[in-house]
Amino acid sequence: MKEKKEGFVSIAIDGPSGVGKTTIAKSIAEKLQYLYIDTGAMFRALSVRFQELGLDPADEAAVCAALPDIALTIRYEEGTQHMIVNGEDVTDRLRTEDISRIASVTSQYQKVRSRLLEMQRELARTADVIMDGRDIGTVVLPQATLKVFLTARARVRAERRYKQLVKLDKLEGATLESIEKDIEERDYRDSHREIAPLKPADDAVTIDTSDLTIAEVEAAILDELAKRC
Ligand code: C5P
Repeated sequence: MKEKKEGFVSIAIDGPSGVGKTTIAKSIAEKLQYLYIDTGAMFRALSVRFQELGLDPADEAAVCAALPDIALTIRYEEGTQHMIVNGEDVTDRLRTEDISRIASVTSQYQKVRSRLLEMQRELARTADVIMDGRDIGTVVLPQATLKVFLTARARVRAERRYKQLVKLDKLEGATLESIEKDIEERDYRDSHREIAPLKPADDAVTIDTSDLTIAEVEAAILDELAKRC
């Protein structure tokens, strides 16, 4: 068994869209009383503002020029992360397919990423955290206590996202097929971008969740954590 590391414990959970990162990270955070940090929500919160401004996500110069005028803060209410943009709580507006697409395109830009990087690292300096995203193990928290990379077949992920959107009444005309296509496009962009691409850290534990229950994935992660703490 390894010696317990000094300071706060951090668990990095990376993986593609719809793989179950949020559900699993939230549940583990509750069990262990860690702070749950959803970094995707930060990219999404900026995207809400880009959408309000009517910006073309592909226009890097316009997107980056808007950044200085966006005040982004995070507020925790009973363990739930709320994203506040220019004083307004936009949490309920983050999970639409349009915002998913804007976030996926604009998260490729260096200025957008560096705007959020320091915020993410600072949060991990203040508490035991479980943080989910695409580059947590590779870039944001390279010293994380445990790094997990979750995968699942695209169809399985599309089905999960479809059910989630139905439950939230946010389907907005999307079909299972259109969601799967969007997921594949986002996977491609996330994995092929120049800066902080989606990939497992060398020392990450990879878990394919396609045929596992949430409880089974959780148990596997907690097992790995026990080996390190
Ligand atoms: O995880 P979620 O789907 O909410 O993330 C929204 C988008 O933000 C992703 O498609 C991805 O492009 C981007 N993202 C990122 N790095 C992170 C978290 C999210 O590039 N750490």
